[in-house]
Amino acid sequence: MEDILQMKNIVKQFAGCMALDNVDFSMKKGETVAIIGPSGSGKSTLLRCINCLERITSGSITLNGDTFVDTKNGQKAVYLSDKQLKNICAETGMIFQHFNLFPHMTCLDNVCYAPIKVKKHSRKEAQERGRQLLDMVGLAHKADAYPAQLSGGQKQRVAIARGLAMNPEIMLFDEPTSALDPEITGEVLNVMRKLSKEHTTMVIVTHEMGFAREVADRVIFMDAGKIVEEGTAEEIFQSPKSDRLKEFLSSVL
Ligand code: ADP
Ligand code: MG
Repeated sequence: MEDILQMKNIVKQFAGCMALDNVDFSMKKGETVAIIGPSGSGKSTLLRCINCLERITSGSITLNGDTFVDTKNGQKAVYLSDKQLKNICAETGMIFQHFNLFPHMTCLDNVCYAPIKVKKHSRKEAQERGRQLLDMVGLAHKADAYPAQLSGGQKQRVAIARGLAMNPEIMLFDEPTSALDPEITGEVLNVMRKLSKEHTTMVIVTHEMGFAREVADRVIFMDAGKIVEEGTAEEIFQSPKSDRLKEFLSSVL
């Protein structure tokens, strides 16, 4: 199957720091990819470059056959118009560690906001789909509640419904359960498990090694801005090759 996303020779530099050091990363439609690695290894930066929350320093990114950033021969990064940026954001749903729900809006309005504003869906159409999505994450009964009235796990499930509402090509999860109490991470992982089974294309940065092992078609280990090793869950967890991965696994498992 064709790659839905292709990132080539991606470099992202911050002042005095090489967050991504010549990374190649691609995804096929329907794939679940888990990214693991120590803190500061560039996992979040990689996700943020996919949806243009960060602009890459150099490299090329192709989503759905559309190359939207391409810097060859040492040329300066191509800057995107606001319209292009909006399109890319619409193709990728991002789920953050700290939910980032709009606090002044009900759950249903959180889910419907972007489809109405960006995709110009009618309010009725957006709400219908919004209710279906809230139902899918087990929160139909919270449609009219505000984020402050929800538990962390519930907030994260609303955030997932909100991401899905745009029908993105790829869902990006950046440590979606790291801010949750251990006893409620399960309800969020269950929703993600379901999405993975339905072949939603998704990238999950996670410290939940058991979960990564269970759902990922492919696991990527990053360290110091590079992809050090990648393979099936079995290859990565059962027979790690590099010393850095072995060390990392022994520190987290
Ligand atoms: P991870 O998600 O794996 O913990 P990050 O992608 O957040 O790692 O960070 C990778 C590196 O880039 C780190 O050294 C971090 O300090 C640096 N970094 C990330 N974001 C910024 C930023 N906005 N400004 C400067 N440095 C940053
Ligand atoms: Mg991070």
